Amino acid sequence: MSRAVTAARATDLVLGRIGWARFKAGHPWIYRGQFEMPGGTPPAGPVRIVDNRGKVLGTALHSPASQIALRVLTREPATIDTAYLIAKLNDARAYRDRVMDARGARREVFSESDGLPSLVVDRYGDHLVIQVLSAGLEAMEGSLLDALNEVYRPASILARNEGSVRKLEGLERGVVQKSGTTPDRLEVMEGSHTLEVDPWKGQKTGLFLDQFENHAAAALVTKGRVLDAFSCTGGFGLAMASRATEVVAVDSSAEALEIAARNAERIGLTNFKFIESNAFDWLKNSDLANERFDVIVLDPPAFSKNKSDVEAGVRGYKEINLRAMKMLSPGGILITCSCSHHVTEELFHDVLAAAAADVHRRFRIVEKRAQGRDHPILVGFPESYYLKCFITQFLD
Ligand code: SAH
Repeated sequence: MSRAVTAARATDLVLGRIGWARFKAGHPWIYRGQFEMPGGTPPAGPVRIVDNRGKVLGTALHSPASQIALRVLTREPATIDTAYLIAKLNDARAYRDRVMDARGARREVFSESDGLPSLVVDRYGDHLVIQVLSAGLEAMEGSLLDALNEVYRPASILARNEGSVRKLEGLERGVVQKSGTTPDRLEVMEGSHTLEVDPWKGQKTGLFLDQFENHAAAALVTKGRVLDAFSCTGGFGLAMASRATEVVAVDSSAEALEIAARNAERIGLTNFKFIESNAFDWLKNSDLANERFDVIVLDPPAFSKNKSDVEAGVRGYKEINLRAMKMLSPGGILITCSCSHHVTEELFHDVLAAAAADVHRRFRIVEKRAQGRDHPILVGFPESYYLKCFITQFLD
């Protein structure tokens, strides 16, 4: 493919050996120190990536304060403006329209996997909740909001810009109304039931959209007594309840359980029990008290947030899985999740094997699942693969 050679600009960056190798391998992140800045440090925003002969290799978002200094937008020369963002948003929407059934709520943009690094856009009905997670993107906020308004014509846009990564980018953290008025409570449909969403204060942007398809997969294998541990607002349990004799939902967040209870009441479910508790303690005590379940869901928060706490995370995963394995009735189903990117699929499998060995039981994998289709995994970018959801069965 021929590459444009154009006059050098102050915002041109030249890749070093390692940066070039990463770029060539397809990874969208280039770290500080892996490129040169012949024109001095450019401000936050789009920059061109050129080779040492001035050939334009692509464009990236530059974050002057972050270790992840460059996030590759394209591998072509391109002008990054509102029209460019509109085209990308339309691509992201077309992808989802093609591979998913229509849904009341979905992730419309999943960062690098949609060619829009550090941007998250979640749609709840006609309201958007966004996260802007780099200085490079924040510098383009005006164009971004114009593009979002053009493509979605949303009733409101709320920025949940609280993520700790914003600190690494040298950005302020907070929740900001960008347009319209986002209500305190929204209602969206999941399958055949309504879910209440707290877009301002709910965990993530209000719902765990990445688990929606796993909720449906869990419903399919449900019968008997169900434990939904780390239930949050009840995503799994609500989807499973109509096939269950009873659902016990356990979470440490009273606010999340209140929403879960209202969701259950709205559907008219009477077989739902809500327990506010530390799931570690609850699982241990219930195991010792010989509680039994036919289906157990474990969907804890990320126990390993970075490389240094993988070991501690593994201990946490092993502990809860071991308890759950002991509490299953014969032939029971364990649906077990990990959303820690650093605990890889292989490592998670090893943790389950170790837990099963400790309790002298064998399990087989019914299905290995991941985050939903609206959170696609970008090939060559392992960071985009974070959620593992294994459906397993107690064999003997
Ligand atoms: N299963 C949910 C998402 C769960 S997110 C869904 O599909 O929608 C993880 C949940 O774990 C959060 O609701 C959080 O409040 C809860 N949590 C975190 N630590 C906990 C603990 N030690 N004990 C119980 N719940 C915990």
